[in-house]
Amino acid sequence: MKKLALHWKILIGMVLGVLFGIGMSQLSWGPGFVTEWIKPMGTIFIRLLKLIAIPLIIASLIKGVSDLQDLSKFSRIGGRTILLYIFTTVIAISIGLVLVNLLHPGSSVGESVVQRITEAYESTASGKVAHAMEAKQRGKLQFLVDMVPSNFFEAASSNRNMLQVIFFAIFFGIALLMVEEKYAKPLKSFFDGLNEVILKMVDLIMLIAPYAVFALLAGLITDTQDPSLFVALGWYAFTVVVGLLLMLVFYLTLNYFITGTNPITFLRGIAPAQLLAFSTSSSAATLPVTMERVEEHLGVEGEVASFVCPVGATVNMDGTSLYQAVAAVFIAQVLAFDLNFSDQLTIIVTATMASIGSAAVPGAGMIMLVIVLEAIGLPQEKLAVGLALIFAVDRPLDMCRTVINISGDATVAMLVAKSVGKLSKPQPKEWDDHYPKDGE
Ligand code: ASP
Repeated sequence: MKKLALHWKILIGMVLGVLFGIGMSQLSWGPGFVTEWIKPMGTIFIRLLKLIAIPLIIASLIKGVSDLQDLSKFSRIGGRTILLYIFTTVIAISIGLVLVNLLHPGSSVGESVVQRITEAYESTASGKVAHAMEAKQRGKLQFLVDMVPSNFFEAASSNRNMLQVIFFAIFFGIALLMVEEKYAKPLKSFFDGLNEVILKMVDLIMLIAPYAVFALLAGLITDTQDPSLFVALGWYAFTVVVGLLLMLVFYLTLNYFITGTNPITFLRGIAPAQLLAFSTSSSAATLPVTMERVEEHLGVEGEVASFVCPVGATVNMDGTSLYQAVAAVFIAQVLAFDLNFSDQLTIIVTATMASIGSAAVPGAGMIMLVIVLEAIGLPQEKLAVGLALIFAVDRPLDMCRTVINISGDATVAMLVAKSVGKLSKPQPKEWDDHYPKDGE
């Protein structure tokens, strides 16, 4: 029998997980059973992915930088990556703003719904506001200070310090380029080997992906409370999802015209990472798979992928920024808070910053949304109400925006690779040859 491609297997796992979750929700003992016996499988999978994220960044970035023949190439890759990241983020926010002003989802939510939602979620939302305020208290250049680790082991001990690890790896890679060949050679072969081993670990972890997404989605469904609020916020959710889809079309078009990559080829290459982003709501957890797909299935050479993908997972969140723009305007519409043109421009700037500042973990985009709401002048006492309003549908939207976040990283990786001559032609056939065959 013809072997099913990995993305189909994951998709089947997801659908079965949703159905199983719905079925279990109907039984009195169902949700408890799922939490106790099914969910841990999903958690183990996410842990495995997180486990290899830091070693993968270290190995592939050091290998990547030291493979570059000269440093000017590295600064070209860096400069183009940052510019493209800012460009795609501004496009995403603009798409979000146009849609939310056109579709005006705020008008679809009545007084009674606002009251119900506020009662249900205001206290949870207040906690998130406090969290965002803490982040805001920091100095203007603190983000730069935060990038420089003072202790390597401390930096490498938490996935939240990804930028610090990236800093160390680049610094180390540059120094490696500068030492005599006799010293550099053994270290380079060590990191080459380490990189290969870790990519193989990604392959092995991906073997359980279809089962893990089953567990993750079943757990999500049985955890969901009050689905009726989903319907009340349907028009808002629709606006975000349409925006995200348009963003995907934008990536496909950009990629087609600049790198000549057929949209189907791109989607087939990146699909497993997209499905995992959807199931985990975390670009950080998906990073090892994004890197592996971009390198081994989309033809981006290691030195580009190893820089562009981890940096993108931490700072480039187009889906998040689009969602923040739509959510900010939606909240203003519901609370009858007028926004003028300059407020919309403020949203472009602050949502760019807020998405850069959002951690690549579930729900982070919603916390940083507070910064956008504050910048447009929403009164302090309304901040928690604002977040409470969108809370009920945040998780499904988080799943969708994370897909766009990682698709943006992959697209930029391809564009940068093309611009520095480091993009080879992706192989459209035998996509999953890389994965061990059944029984092997
Ligand atoms: N979950 C998103 C990510 O990891 C961030 C967010 O928008 O909450 O990419």
